[in-house]
Amino acid sequence: MDYDFLCPKCKGHLRVGNKIIFTTKTKKWKGGLILMHPELGNYKFEHHPSFSFEEGQQIDFYCPICMDKLTSKRHDNLAKVIMRDENRVECEILFSRIAGEKSTYKIIGETMEVFGEQSSTYIDYINLSQMF
Ligand SMILES: [Zn+2]
Repeated sequence: MDYDFLCPKCKGHLRVGNKIIFTTKTKKWKGGLILMHPELGNYKFEHHPSFSFEEGQQIDFYCPICMDKLTSKRHDNLAKVIMRDENRVECEILFSRIAGEKSTYKIIGETMEVFGEQSSTYIDYINLSQMF
């Protein structure tokens, strides 16, 4: 099944072909575009060789269309996007914005699927009875 990835704010499409495109910034650095894999739990990403991330560094993710910051209200270390399937069913995708941290969460209503070796890190912070 093919999924679309949308900005929670402007609902613009973040997926082009087999990549999800984000604008990223860190505290010390003005930023660049990164291309991530649409498969949940696949942490391969690409970016221009003129920049790199240090392990453990917090990265700010922005929608490249409306430039809204994609940080989740559930936890400051998590970024949020909307994933929509071909039946137009939407779910919330959270992923860690700490470089090298493999934590991804898929939330539909009050159910959650987890992906990544470090997915236990934020599990206690995600309250499924609260919607954001
Ligand atoms: Zn947007």
